[in-house]
Amino acid sequence: MAQHVVDIARFISPVRAADGRITSPWGAIRSGRKHWGVDIGRRNASGASPSIRAAQAGTVVYRGVSGRLGTPPSNGAAGGGSGYGNVIVIYHGTDALGRHIYSAYGHLASFAVALGANVTQGQNIGVMGNTGGSYGIHLHYTIYRSSGTTKLPLPASGTGSLGFYESSVSIDPGLTAALTP
Ligand SMILES: [Zn+2]
Repeated sequence: MAQHVVDIARFISPVRAADGRITSPWGAIRSGRKHWGVDIGRRNASGASPSIRAAQAGTVVYRGVSGRLGTPPSNGAAGGGSGYGNVIVIYHGTDALGRHIYSAYGHLASFAVALGANVTQGQNIGVMGNTGGSYGIHLHYTIYRSSGTTKLPLPASGTGSLGFYESSVSIDPGLTAALTP
């Protein structure tokens, strides 16, 4: 299979524009802590929970309940605070510099894909939810990029606490990818 370069600019929003809106941007300081993702809530707060779609093609490398996800890249400590509930992480491959690119989808109500599944861009992977440390139905979405060419550590089982360490860089998708296609 031909190697293809992952381009974050080609990612699409994990929530359709008609279904979601950003409720907390990447990098916001909340309770003294930086928010290492984008929160996307329902556009219609009384409507059904929207489906979540893969921002780019890839392989599901984590599907489980995560205690922690979203590590600040500077301090090396595991975890970003409260739990991210039902999480899917998709591995997309490497960028032009050989850095590994992942996208993570937290607080899901349910999963629509299996661990190890290959997904296409836009494929339904689950349903927006309120699992983990969440105060309402929303998606916590993050793109991760390794700072070097070493893959990020993931639990082999696809369950258990998930920590991305200082080797990872959390990227603001609002700056690098379309959130409202
Ligand atoms: Zn969040």
